[in-house]
Amino acid sequence: MPFLPTPKLGSQDTPVFERLMLLTTAIAGAAHAVFAAVFVWVGVTPMAWINLASVLCYVLAALLIRQHVLLPALLLMGGEIVCHSVLAVWLIGWGTGFHFYVILIVPVAIFSTSGSWALRASLAVAAGLGYMLMDWIFGRALPPIALPEAVLHTLHYFNLASALTILALLALLYRHLVQKAEAKLQVLACTDPLTQLHNRRFAMEVAQHEAAVYQRGGRPLALVIGDIDHFKQVNDQHGHAQGDRALKAVARVLRDGVREVDHVARWGGEEFLMLLPGTDEDEAEQVAQRLRESVGSLSVDAGAVPRPLSITLGLTVLGREESVEQALARADRALYLGKQAGRNRVVVAAQA
Ligand code: GH3
Ligand code: MG
Ligand code: MG
Repeated sequence: MPFLPTPKLGSQDTPVFERLMLLTTAIAGAAHAVFAAVFVWVGVTPMAWINLASVLCYVLAALLIRQHVLLPALLLMGGEIVCHSVLAVWLIGWGTGFHFYVILIVPVAIFSTSGSWALRASLAVAAGLGYMLMDWIFGRALPPIALPEAVLHTLHYFNLASALTILALLALLYRHLVQKAEAKLQVLACTDPLTQLHNRRFAMEVAQHEAAVYQRGGRPLALVIGDIDHFKQVNDQHGHAQGDRALKAVARVLRDGVREVDHVARWGGEEFLMLLPGTDEDEAEQVAQRLRESVGSLSVDAGAVPRPLSITLGLTVLGREESVEQALARADRALYLGKQAGRNRVVVAAQA
């Protein structure tokens, strides 16, 4: 299982549905303009006028969408599809396949983000029932205008292919949104909301993974637990908000002070866990000392006299035969000894 650095959460989601609607108006508008020309060419003037009216509808819908007036735009587009389909199948026959587009109202109404759920469900049901009614009325009726066979077939397969393509694109979009939402949830489940570091649960997963790599003959794993000194006093004297700000600052210097392949997690309130794969005890001690110095250069903004911060770190390297929990307990004991010895130091617990 690869453990990549936690991706950054995206900012506000882009209005995907709005962009999709805008794209739809552009494509549908252009397609209807082409249809208008085709109907002029084959001499079916009523259909040419209907298509021109449709172009106007899509221009109006696009203007509404650009003003973020989504529901009227959606209703206008739905109304256009229904009217156009009904008029087309009545005038030039069911065989032209203009009715397929009515079916598309069902997924779009459900997928839409505007309007209440009841309204969207009603629209979907109305579209389904309306389609069946159209089928009942026009399915076997003879149209007043008889198109040449070749034109009829071309229209039929063009409309069928278009409707299927739109269905496939809707499914693709839905899939993309679901994947995006899942990825976001995954990041949230692994991230500490205050510091944006990995949380304890994810850090434990990483540690278990790295331990398995080491025990299969791979790289060693150094574990460092750091605990900010006298942090309760920071909160008590300068307030919780300053405490939070200090925690974020410490998190940043810890993250910046290790390699990209290392992991820094918020282990508890003011405790941090660093996992340093491929690092032996001496190297890990150097890293820990460097981190201690970096935290030492931070201070809480406490008015005239800033209050300096410090951190105590306990360090150990995972033994070949031991569990992550055993190594963590050893690093924790080293940290405790560091606290007892006066804080602001690194204590190394030799490998078991
Ligand atoms: P020591 O040097 O022995 O570690 O002393 P300490 O005061 O840091 O340790 P102690 O465990 O007594 O206090 C830890 C404090 O960390 C208490 C708690 O209020 C604070 N803390 C824990 N999580 C947060 C947090 O998310 N935000 C803030 N502002 N404070 C927190
Ligand atoms: Mg603590
Ligand atoms: Mg502390």
